[in-house]
Amino acid sequence: MNYELPTLNRKFQNIILMNPDTQKDQKPHKYSLAVCNLASGSKGNATYISDGQTSILIDAGLSGIELQRRLASRYLAPESLAAIIVSHEHSDHVRGAGILSRRFKLPVYINQKTAAAAPALGSVHELKPFECGTTFTIGNLTIHPFSISHDAEDPAGFKIGSNGTTMAIATDIGIATSMVKEHLKHCALLVLEANHDPQMLETGPYPWPLKQRIQSRVGHMSNSDSKKLLHELQHANLQHVILAHLSEINNTPQKAFDEVVQALTRCDAQLTVADQYSSGPVIYLK
Ligand SMILES: [Zn+2]
Ligand SMILES: [Zn+2]
Repeated sequence: MNYELPTLNRKFQNIILMNPDTQKDQKPHKYSLAVCNLASGSKGNATYISDGQTSILIDAGLSGIELQRRLASRYLAPESLAAIIVSHEHSDHVRGAGILSRRFKLPVYINQKTAAAAPALGSVHELKPFECGTTFTIGNLTIHPFSISHDAEDPAGFKIGSNGTTMAIATDIGIATSMVKEHLKHCALLVLEANHDPQMLETGPYPWPLKQRIQSRVGHMSNSDSKKLLHELQHANLQHVILAHLSEINNTPQKAFDEVVQALTRCDAQLTVADQYSSGPVIYLK
């Protein structure tokens, strides 16, 4: 179940999280973008994004059948998808992309280096190459891929817009470069990485080389990195922040939430923590 917390104290009264089990009834008549995290973490990642007419998945890192189950649990149909976009070749991001592509005749948007490094993708219905830095469209959605710092061939974050609203997704980033920050500005929704609590990582069971990799410029963002970044990025029109790619060993949803929520001092955004084992709520942006 998606992690939820009641109001923490007066200062954070704006952060009231939705009950995912009542999502079907909460679909507003009018919205610009709908976003649903289907899975997040080192065992698989996928995010559903739709403007009501064009729907896509960013990453498909669970088995095909499990992705279908996660979509169904939020009343979302795989038949309504127009495409899958792949951020980088790690299996927690591509595992189910090939099978879903073949099963539902979906094009897979992927950059060339990533495709070459992802044999697990297998054959796909149609391969659509993109380049980081070059905007493309799928139906009504405008997609702008941008380079991120991670230990993969050509990893990408994405800024996605429709109906005058934008959202961005940037997980699997060692550091938020100024280019990443530039792309995350002014978005109504952000999917940000809060991978680890530095102290838990430090004292945890991981071997030293792996600890170093996670903390490096091509590793993963910590809760405090995420707090700092969000403090900088927040603006009056920020509606929602999803914390993603939490480590099950070196973090807890409570720690990530408690740390990052402190960043939200100048806006009314809601904060949710994405889960590895279940779909989060469908978030409808104004
Ligand atoms: Zn990952
Ligand atoms: Zn990765």
